[in-house]
Amino acid sequence: MSDCLFCRIAAKEIPAKIVFEDALCLAFDDINPQAPHHVLIIPRSHFATLDDMPASEEAVLGHLMIVATRLARERGIAKSGFRLVANCQSAAGQSVFHVHLHLMGGRSFHWPPG
Ligand code: AMP
Ligand code: ZN
Repeated sequence: MSDCLFCRIAAKEIPAKIVFEDALCLAFDDINPQAPHHVLIIPRSHFATLDDMPASEEAVLGHLMIVATRLARERGIAKSGFRLVANCQSAAGQSVFHVHLHLMGGRSFHWPPG
């Protein structure tokens, strides 16, 4: 989608600190990090929210979690602990309407989240 920020990052039309990419997904540093490690993992294909993803995308969604966990391992935060977040819709905190996972680590997190 040409007017989607994350599609434009995936198309390299807008710069981002890309830390991983493959045929299915892209991972890049969050521009406003909420933890020492804060990476966004997005599917290459555009879906506005998780609620827009059909069951046929099961493998892609699983892949995002596998990639996120691998990145956490590579950064040495898998054992100390990390958090994966997917906000769905504005009330949950979603501000960019292209599905993404937040990988955050390098500090302690509270529960429940705000
Ligand atoms: P969410 O609020 O769950 O939709 O998350 C969107 C995230 O995208 C926020 O954490 C923002 O800081 C981040 N973000 C917004 N614009 C950019 C950008 N140009 N590059 C990297 N991250 C961004
Ligand atoms: Zn998009």
